[in-house]
Parts: sequence; structure tokens; C-alpha cells
Amino acid sequence: MRTPRRRLRLARYKKNRRKVQQRFRQRIFERDRTLEIAMHPLPRVVVLTGAGISAESGIRTFRAADGLWEEHKVEDVATPEGFAHDPQKVQAFYNARRRQLTSGDVQPNAAHQALAELEAALGDHFLLVTQNIDNLHERAGSRNVIHMHGELLKVRCISSGQVLHWQDDVKDDDRCHCCQFPSVLRPHVVWFGEMPLQMDEIYQALGQADYFIAIGTSGHVYPAAGFVHEAKLQGAHTVELNLEPSQVGSEFEEKEYGLASEVVPKFVQRMLAKIK
Ligand SMILES: [Zn+2]
Repeated sequence: MRTPRRRLRLARYKKNRRKVQQRFRQRIFERDRTLEIAMHPLPRVVVLTGAGISAESGIRTFRAADGLWEEHKVEDVATPEGFAHDPQKVQAFYNARRRQLTSGDVQPNAAHQALAELEAALGDHFLLVTQNIDNLHERAGSRNVIHMHGELLKVRCISSGQVLHWQDDVKDDDRCHCCQFPSVLRPHVVWFGEMPLQMDEIYQALGQADYFIAIGTSGHVYPAAGFVHEAKLQGAHTVELNLEPSQVGSEFEEKEYGLASEVVPKFVQRMLAKIK
């Protein structure tokens, strides 16, 4: 015979069981939803940019064809030997480049802006590797940027290697504040014969990339010219966007040629349409 108290307990038990079952169903539902998201993740994209993307913003860089950079011989202004031989000339050269960059005459263009838009959609699945030493990507809104050849708006203590932000001219008597005997500051720029920066991070990203997109890069300068090969080996889809076929153009699966400010926004819009 059921006493009222037992009946009450039974009713409570049934109610609890219903709740537990409901919660369990909810959990399965949520698990399936997360599974679905995991099955359609955002692609991982590595973009490499070179001089071609900044050319339309008015920045002239080193021309491989004649070995000149703004009418200077590249050995004089972009090698450790050139700096050792005539540091004042080298500082004056980078001071001029720095002044041009901060003058307001130079602005990011539609290609820089499109890449910032792509990063906004992909978040940390997006890495921008640039050979350029200007800050136009950052000014367009890019955040996850590796400057493999250094940055014009930074200098480095030649003794400790400490890197400093630097907007103005480097004057003859400018010295570091990090060493006991204040040392010379050099441009934080990778010169010919020196190792590019953050290569481990770049190769790690290339190893996980679903897309590798090279923009405005001539394919003359290694190791950057080898990135397409590395990305393909790891199974990435490779894309070249350039004014004309680069030195390593035949390695890419997809290519489009024209001005960066035209082909890059078009490509990015197509990609965004696929992601969304
Ligand atoms: Zn120092």
C-alpha cells in the first residue's frame, strides 16, 4: 500500500528523471552541434606579400633587375658590409625612407585593406607574412603580421639586439640606453646576407595552412620564394596574385595577374563568400 509520503517521493523521482533525460538530450544536441562546427572549420590561411602590394602606395623598393634601391647600389645601403663601411650614408638612406613613410604621402591601398578584411573574418586562422618593411598592413588594420625582413620604424642596438620603436631620423649621436657603454643603433631591417626573422613561426604556419596566397612578390628572394613549395608539400591550395607571373609562378595552382589593388580585393571577396 502506498502511503502519501511514498507517492510524493515517487512523483519527485519521476520529475527528476524527466529533467535528467532532458538535460542529457540537450547535451547530445550540443555535442552534435560542436561536431558540426568542427567538421566545417574556418580555413587556415597564410598570405605572403612583397613589394608589389606597396608599389601602388608609392613605395619604391629594391629592383632585382638593376640592383638599385632608390638609385642607391644595394651593396651600399642593404648589407652589413655597407653599414660597416659608411654608417652615415646608410642611416641617411633609411632616414629618408622613414620620412617618406610617415609623411602622409604614402597610404595603404585597396589590397592592404582587403587583407585586413580577410583577417577580420578568419581571426587567428590568418597569418600575414610580409617581406615589406613599411607599416601599411598595420595601418590598414592587419594585426597578425610577421615582418620577415624587419621594420623601417624600428631600430636595434648592435650590442644587445634590443629593438626600439623609432619614428624620426637616427642622428649621428643617437645611442642605445640598454648597454653599459651606449651602443650604435642600426635599422631593424634584414640586409642581404642576414637571416630573415621569425622563420620557425612561418614554417609552422605553412605546415598547417589550407591556403597559401603570395601577393606582389617577385619570387627572386629566398627563403620566401620557397614558401609555395613548402605549403604545397603540406597539402595547401596555392594562389599567386601578381602583376605578372613571378619567378616561381609555375608552382602555383591558381593565379591571377593584374594590379594588386584590383586582383586582391576581388579574390578576397570570393573567399569571404565561400567562408560565410
Ligand atoms: Zn644597447
